[in-house]
Amino acid sequence: MTSSTTSFNPLPDSATARGGSQRLRDSFGRAITDLRISVTDRCNYRCVYCRTGNDGAVFSELPISDYLRMIRIFVSLGIEKVRLTGGEPLLRSGLVELVSELSQLRTAFDTNGEPLPYPAPGAPLDLALTTNGHLLEGLAGSLKQAGLNRVTVSMDAVDAETFTAITRVPRSFDKVLAGIRAATAAGLGPVKVNCVLLRGFNDSQIEQFAEFSRREGVIVRFIEWMPLEEESNAPGSRSWSPEAVVPMSEIVDRLNAWRPLVELPAHHASETARRFTFDDGLGEIGIVAPVSRPFCGHCSRVRLTSDGKIRTCLFSQTDHDLAGRMARGASDEELAGYIRSVIQRKEARHHIGEPGFEKPSRTMVHIGG
Ligand code: SAM
Repeated sequence: MTSSTTSFNPLPDSATARGGSQRLRDSFGRAITDLRISVTDRCNYRCVYCRTGNDGAVFSELPISDYLRMIRIFVSLGIEKVRLTGGEPLLRSGLVELVSELSQLRTAFDTNGEPLPYPAPGAPLDLALTTNGHLLEGLAGSLKQAGLNRVTVSMDAVDAETFTAITRVPRSFDKVLAGIRAATAAGLGPVKVNCVLLRGFNDSQIEQFAEFSRREGVIVRFIEWMPLEEESNAPGSRSWSPEAVVPMSEIVDRLNAWRPLVELPAHHASETARRFTFDDGLGEIGIVAPVSRPFCGHCSRVRLTSDGKIRTCLFSQTDHDLAGRMARGASDEELAGYIRSVIQRKEARHHIGEPGFEKPSRTMVHIGG
């Protein structure tokens, strides 16, 4: 990590530095506590429902120290949970050091939303990572040691052949499996395994995924496919259509027929997944249904792209140039004020499936999933 990363001045202990004493809320009263940050939009996979055949960057990357400064300001405004993503975040050099720096930060508001003196003495952040798992075996131990709390691994098939057909990278399945096991062994469990189901492609594997959860001690989460893919003519690429989405109701019915499901209580109001176990309590399945059961009313998220743009919704038509303001010399106070004003413009909800729906101005891999 460069010396500039460690030379940050703490934000002044005053409401002014936060652009006000209230925690970050949008114009609908939703508290914004969850920041997802993409540290690169490069990826070593070319999943058929996500990327074109290309795996390089489209947008630029910022120095790790810039992400850290931005995250610190977000935390001063009320962010409690930071998820590092991409592109593929494990391709980014300096990631372990970034986690280590983030583990030193403390939340700025108490559980009632009252401001605490900043920095400290709030709670450590909840630090999570979303990865395709390809490089995880070698990094899980250092990430845990640096202070990472949790890891989500994307894995869309439980057999090597289908997995290769989806990722378009040969011999990738065994690497991801080894990554999941290494993360569990390192204490990053229970690992969440995210699976996007595409009708006619991997939807025959619902029951095998349930077995996988029970066998490996991981939480399997089925995610409905959203219209966020890159347009592509590359062989195998898939384009979104409502018919290609495998909805929550169908997944629940299939699992229930295989073995009786028992619903688990939500951890908190903004939980995106409905959670289930089986009648013997073994295994956990989550179903995230942004298409058939949107959860926008409880959305607590804001996203930062690899080139330092704020996105207030996955389906935003615009982004907001935080990095540009930083590069022009804005102070922490000015950046905090800008973030507050952007959050005021957070969209009420997405409009997937409605007449006139427009795809967002960036695809998933270039926003940060
Ligand atoms: N490379 C990392 C990974 O594979 O997890 C992080 C980025 S990836 C874009 C994050 C997640 O977004 C993956 O779980 C992927 O399956 C999911 N994803 C990509 N396109 C999607 C879409 N159109 N609808 C739903 N999920 C999608």
